[in-house]
Amino acid sequence: MYKNKMHLEFDSKSENERFARVTAAAFATQLNPIMEEISDIKTAVSEAVTNAVVHGYDGGEGTVYLDAEIEDRTIIIVVKDTGVGIEDINKAMEPLYTTKPDEERAGMGFMFMEAFMDDLEVQSELGKGTTVIMKKTIIER
Ligand code: ATP
Ligand code: MG
Repeated sequence: MYKNKMHLEFDSKSENERFARVTAAAFATQLNPIMEEISDIKTAVSEAVTNAVVHGYDGGEGTVYLDAEIEDRTIIIVVKDTGVGIEDINKAMEPLYTTKPDEERAGMGFMFMEAFMDDLEVQSELGKGTTVIMKKTIIER
């Protein structure tokens, strides 16, 4: 099986969201994705990184970890924080569920990740942090 991976870590700052999403998209270009697939990956990474910054570290200090691995035609993207964690993952993943309704959050992040990627898995432990694993297969054209 062909494999290729990258790892990135950066401070939990909203300024780094753009950098993270562009980097993940650039890494994915070796699979020759179409514009729509690139845009899907950018959106999913953007939502996951924003969640780490806004919820995981609640706007405070921390490190966000972005790992991406290509296995044949599939890209696996992992966004991790060691922040507050999620109490009830199933509830958090429900469409329109948000714990920050007052800060113009719509509870759409997980919905986008689910819609734009082929597979989404969330692991979290209260006080330990959250790991979001997303997969997308790019067919050969
Ligand atoms: P939006 O993404 O539309 O701005 P949102 O971030 O609240 O709103 P989701 O991204 O779907 O919506 O996340 C739902 C909820 O899951 C959040 O409100 C938050 O309570 C919790 N959550 C998500 N990611 C994390 C994380 N990394 N750490 C802690 N809690 C999280
Ligand atoms: Mg969100």
